[in-house]
Amino acid sequence: MPTNIILLGPPGAGKGTQARKLIEDHGMVQLSTGDMLREARASGTKTGQRVAEMMDRGELVTDEIVINLIRERLTVGGPGFIFDGFPRTLAQADALGSLLEEQGQAIAAVIEIKVDDTQLVARISGRFTCGGCGEVYHDRTRPTQTVGTCDVCGSDRLLRRADDNAESLKVRLLEYYKKTSPLIGYFWRDGNLHRVDGLASIETVSSEVNRVMRDHISTRCSHDDVGCASAPPA
Ligand code: ADP
Ligand code: ADP
Ligand code: ZN
Repeated sequence: MPTNIILLGPPGAGKGTQARKLIEDHGMVQLSTGDMLREARASGTKTGQRVAEMMDRGELVTDEIVINLIRERLTVGGPGFIFDGFPRTLAQADALGSLLEEQGQAIAAVIEIKVDDTQLVARISGRFTCGGCGEVYHDRTRPTQTVGTCDVCGSDRLLRRADDNAESLKVRLLEYYKKTSPLIGYFWRDGNLHRVDGLASIETVSSEVNRVMRDHISTRCSHDDVGCASAPPA
């Protein structure tokens, strides 16, 4: 059975960064609703315009739009999905549970990445990503090795998000505490909530995430590499 995990945490906690590590380490499939919505807004359709308005205000996009996007993508199989930035409301969590159940699947673990609000401003205001491959960088904590060029794919298309400013972050954080943080209790009740300290370095957080995968998930990924946290013991 595929190993599906949810990365939960406020904007800037490091969900996207850790999702990319999980792809590298386990070949998992990332489903980022933020990325899907950015694609939807770029499409210029009526829904795209509504999405753009909500995102620019820092508010959550409606459950209906987001759940439909996820439903379309759940068909691609593989060693497991990383839900990055989804679910963000109780209605989305219920919908995800039902969609997975229909396919005989489940959530193996929810990993909450904890970061203080004071640090989030610095995380968000220094963030930029590669338009070529999606690698996530930070001016101070994770700069490119050569200024202006992506380390991974060599692209010079390095982008900053319009909503990555202190004003929008205030609204996004409020949305997080009002609508998303109740999910912590929701998943805790199921017994598969795991917390990691998101203030540690990217590498340390990554090994903590892999430790959760190794210690708490019985399903093994399809990789047998020695470095793979979910590989069978030697
Ligand atoms: P961050 O990386 O800061 O956590 P995302 O890229 O995940 O942000 O999301 C950017 C914006 O897209 C959010 O502020 C929100 O407007 C919208 N969004 C993303 N995922 C969801 C979701 N699951 N439900 C509702 N809105 C979402
Ligand atoms: P999210 O997807 O939760 O919004 P990101 O993965 O995009 O968060 O990370 C936000 C910013 O913080 C990025 O610029 C990223 O390079 C940086 N970052 C992520 N994890 C860490 C970490 N553990 N320590 C320092 N900076 C980090
Ligand atoms: Zn790149």
